[in-house]
Amino acid sequence: VPELPEVETTRRAILPYVVGHRVADVVVRDPRLRYGVDAEEMQRELCGRRIDTVERRGKYLLFHCENGALLVHLGMSGSLRIVTKRSPVDKHDHFDLLLDNGCLLRLRDPRRFGSIVWTHPPVHCHRLLRHLGPEPDNEAFSGRHLFDVSRGRTVPVKQLLMDSQVVVGVGNIYANEALFAAGISPFRQAGKISEFRYERLAQAVRAVLARAIEAGGTTLRDFVSGEGSPGYFQQRLRIYGRAGESCFVCGHVVKCRPLGQRATYYCGHCQH
Ligand SMILES: [Zn+2]
Repeated sequence: VPELPEVETTRRAILPYVVGHRVADVVVRDPRLRYGVDAEEMQRELCGRRIDTVERRGKYLLFHCENGALLVHLGMSGSLRIVTKRSPVDKHDHFDLLLDNGCLLRLRDPRRFGSIVWTHPPVHCHRLLRHLGPEPDNEAFSGRHLFDVSRGRTVPVKQLLMDSQVVVGVGNIYANEALFAAGISPFRQAGKISEFRYERLAQAVRAVLARAIEAGGTTLRDFVSGEGSPGYFQQRLRIYGRAGESCFVCGHVVKCRPLGQRATYYCGHCQH
């Protein structure tokens, strides 16, 4: 599943190919994504328009034009790549944006949980965006913020952290990693954690995501314009996926059990 670091890396990788260029054509090969794609609307709104900037909001990419924005979400298995008109089309290549510089932005999505949506301004008021919490690297995301939104909440802290209304882009892998780094048990009730410990957690979230984005930069070319199928990052993970192995910090056995149907890895010795 593409998480925030993959989406941010994709954004940075495609920026130089799309910003400042006009859309020459839109091809919708399969409209059956998460929300049906209206090919006629896409043609009408996008053709001839210049892409002014590409913004990331949570796991959405926003392609801003003067008359609105194209919202793209990669879902469970989606990827965006820069190819050329002559690149062979795969059966999972559902959407193409051809630009006036000859570059072609192509969405591949085998499981079709991704989405492509057009919206008029004000773009950030769109129903998919307006309830999103702060970005992890924004000053609005802090220990104080986590402390405030968690008072009276009995949900486990891991679920709070993965709630996009609390903070965007913290998926299962990074929630596990950040809680380990902060020494907080994923199962602890959100409302019973101190502001001091939430400050450590907020810092851990930022550090874990920044490290992943940095790692992504090194594989950026392969990710967006390489041949073959684009893979997601090989992370150097410190707790996720390590059940039965020794904790890097204390040597105790790393455990795993589901929480809200998501695999949850933890060290019972380091995390409380
Ligand atoms: Zn440990």
